[in-house]
Amino acid sequence: MQISLTETAAVLKSAQSIVITAHVNPDGDAIGSSLGLMHGLKALGKEVQVFIDDDIPAAFSVLPGYELIGKPTEGQSIAADLLVAVDVSLDRIGKVAEMVIAPVLNIDHHITNDNQADKLYLDGTAAATAEIIYQLLGELGVICDRDMGMCLYTGLATDTGWFRFSNTTPETMRTAADLLACGVVPNLISEALEQRPFAEVQNLASAMQKIELLAEGKVAGVCLDYAALQEHEAPEGLIGMVRVIEGVDVAFTLKEKEPNLCRVSLRSKGLDVTKIALQFGGGGHVRAAGCTIAKDCAAARIDLIKVILQVLEAEH
Ligand code: 5GP
Ligand code: MN
Repeated sequence: MQISLTETAAVLKSAQSIVITAHVNPDGDAIGSSLGLMHGLKALGKEVQVFIDDDIPAAFSVLPGYELIGKPTEGQSIAADLLVAVDVSLDRIGKVAEMVIAPVLNIDHHITNDNQADKLYLDGTAAATAEIIYQLLGELGVICDRDMGMCLYTGLATDTGWFRFSNTTPETMRTAADLLACGVVPNLISEALEQRPFAEVQNLASAMQKIELLAEGKVAGVCLDYAALQEHEAPEGLIGMVRVIEGVDVAFTLKEKEPNLCRVSLRSKGLDVTKIALQFGGGGHVRAAGCTIAKDCAAARIDLIKVILQVLEAEH
């Protein structure tokens, strides 16, 4: 059931023990929104735990509360008044779904949200879930401090490509300005998140050699099969390099993370890439979406390209 921001605040107020979670394969918004909300609710005297069913990249250790993020273990069970799932639909919270016995409040900005939670606050116009959390803290009467600000700014900055993408609105900028006024040091975050080991920068260069251009240059992508990923982990930022190629509308990366299991990232400058991701059971935003294809790299590549070309064709 969809509810308003005021109702969302009321649901949070009426709970005392709260578990927060976000999507597997967590990004800056998933982690930043979880921790930002955690700090805010703790300021209200709530007992709050954060669990994410994945490893949290070490770069995020710059965020206050990073070390408090738990990872569910097999058979673990937690009773709480409320489970809050941020930046996600319930199908992507992994083992947390079975681990926490509580009603679920879902707070999200993905237009593809499946509305399966007991209560859902969805704002598809928000650039990041962190933008919603900031509004929610205001609704709850929490005064934003530096810890909350650092986390929420990270969500906002990463989901907007450091305030460059089309989801950046005047509201996004006003929120960012407010967060800076709370004591956020923006370069501390950007430097921590941009830092790469030397070998990874070199891997990025070699992965970029594998970019292929399709559909007269309107589509570009790179596929890394299981063997390639065993040799070198997939470099961060690869999709961003594909996306900047002149004339490219749709950019993709396809990574065979486990044998016969490929993670796909999609980006666009115009086409609605949720139309592609949804065909493989994924989702996301108009200009940034993703999905998983349970095939080997070569077969998944063929399926993916076929659907991209179909969706591209249908738009013209
Ligand atoms: P990324 O390419 O960075 O993994 O994901 C881009 C966007 O699509 C993010 O907002 C992410 O949450 C969403 N997304 C990625 N993969 C999936 C998926 O398998 N299912 C759904 N529903 N959303 C996804
Ligand atoms: Mn997000």
